[in-house]
Amino acid sequence: MSTELDALYQEIILDHYKNPHHQGLRDPFEAEVHHVNPTCGDEVTLRVHLAESEGTTVVEDVSYDAVGCSISQASASVLTDLVIGKPLDEALAVHQEFLTLMQGKGTVEPDEEVLEDGIAFAGVAKFPARVKCALLSWMAWKDATARAGTTAGTPTEEATHG
Ligand code: ZN
Repeated sequence: MSTELDALYQEIILDHYKNPHHQGLRDPFEAEVHHVNPTCGDEVTLRVHLAESEGTTVVEDVSYDAVGCSISQASASVLTDLVIGKPLDEALAVHQEFLTLMQGKGTVEPDEEVLEDGIAFAGVAKFPARVKCALLSWMAWKDATARAGTTAGTPTEEATHG
């Protein structure tokens, strides 16, 4: 990777760290989780609010309170930019794309169309110790979303038949 690209990626991460998007814990929400990255000391409390819109589950809001290193905090900011307002299916696809990038040990070419500012973490993927920092809030989001899905949308109809 070129030095120029590395510098650009660092700038994107620092920008999100200094000016985090969608920061703070908000109501309403269906699920709240607290995840910790003991390796680095990063912590995130994250809430997910799902809503039904024309038969589709939409990620209505993701709010969070993050403490820790710049990578973990910037990653939470980028996550919210990428998933809020998206249909859940699409948001999960973005999640998978980010996971693939971060687990690629620096060999995966990031797709800017899908990951937007998330491409900046391509540089981080080369450092196994920092991958956990970058993935902390993403894992928390997946966890919270799974919990929110079981409390919100699921099969009250089927249940009533029993
Ligand atoms: Zn960290």
